[in-house]
Amino acid sequence: MTASGLMSTYAPLPVAFERGEGIWLYDTQGNRYLDAFMGIAVCGLGHCHPAVTQAIQKQAAQLVHTSNLFRIPAQETLGQRLTQLSGMESCFFGNSGAEANECAIKLARMFGNQKGVDLPTIIVMEHSFHGRTLATLTATGNRKVQAGFEPLVRGFSRAPYNDLEAVRTIARNNPSVVAVWIEPIQGEGGIHIPGDDYLPGLRALCDELDLLLILDEIQTGNGRTGKYFAYQHYGILPDVVTTAKGLGNGLPIGACLAAGKAAALFKPGNHGSTFGGNPLACTTALAVLDTIEKSRLAERADHLGKLLMTIFSTELKGSEYIAEVRGKGLMIGIETTEPCGELTRLALEAGLLINVTSGNVIRLLPALTMTDDEAKLLADSVVKIIKAWAADERSRPR
Ligand SMILES: *Cc1c(COP(=O)(O)O)cnc(C)c1O
Repeated sequence: MTASGLMSTYAPLPVAFERGEGIWLYDTQGNRYLDAFMGIAVCGLGHCHPAVTQAIQKQAAQLVHTSNLFRIPAQETLGQRLTQLSGMESCFFGNSGAEANECAIKLARMFGNQKGVDLPTIIVMEHSFHGRTLATLTATGNRKVQAGFEPLVRGFSRAPYNDLEAVRTIARNNPSVVAVWIEPIQGEGGIHIPGDDYLPGLRALCDELDLLLILDEIQTGNGRTGKYFAYQHYGILPDVVTTAKGLGNGLPIGACLAAGKAAALFKPGNHGSTFGGNPLACTTALAVLDTIEKSRLAERADHLGKLLMTIFSTELKGSEYIAEVRGKGLMIGIETTEPCGELTRLALEAGLLINVTSGNVIRLLPALTMTDDEAKLLADSVVKIIKAWAADERSRPR
């Protein structure tokens, strides 16, 4: 037996939290931490937002679960709200990002098989992240996620990110291609933002070759980048879009939305989930959507993102340890010229929660509900810890 009784899938930092409020977390010793990461973009409304807490409490006392063998009014309302927000037509609910993505993969396969395509193939990207199930880890562009789990799933072909020509070449030369699948901004891969013409270019290519354009907005969705979905910055609509992280503000829920030729591919019996879309999860997500709309949190994310980016650009300008600062809304990456993984531990000791992804990208995913003053405090704290780390690097023998 392991000491914790758990499989060793994680390497947690030596801290446990017992209470949260807004951008603050409190550990079991009573210490306070400024959270710039929000449980990996999950608690977009901040910890224990009152509207969400109230929805959970009320629904938990009324009805938690019934199964999809019966109609679930909150699920239908949530489906309508999400299709309106996204410009999509139909919706399926699961309990996580990976499950939402499995639904998207099954849609693409159903689409291809109905067209009579042999071995329907989905084009996926380098440095992508789509989850940890067998199909989604195969789609993920990171060998570390795949190693040891062979045989991988068939039906995926890989292209470099932000390279329209590469996708065009693969799609034109391979008649088994049925879909193109990307994150509008890559999250785990290191906050990579494509050029403005990339998504519209993919849309046009998919239209030309009758392919599905599938977007993974599990991290970018729910207002985080300054629009409800990131593709709304580019004036296009996908055929399929998945989201999860920010949708339940911590209650597990994932959604796969579809439009046009992808909207009605499934018939009863083609797909399902025991827990997916239960009354508790859907009521909670409805409270999240209400709050995002009422408090205009997508606009706030845009405003706060600009505020943070201005401070980072000014304060970190000229540092030999900073390669680039990039972001959209409240999805921000600060790339360092050296590996900077130890920054998470340094920050923790200073009462600040940040994340480092891809080895050298500090990833910030703060709450959309921050005040301007909280955002400034967050930016100052991040700058301070980076400067301390850089000074330490400089004194270290190379
Ligand atoms: C987090 C994430 C996933 C996986 O979501 P889980 O809920 O962990 O299964 C998939 N795609 C993207 C872009 C993500 O950020």
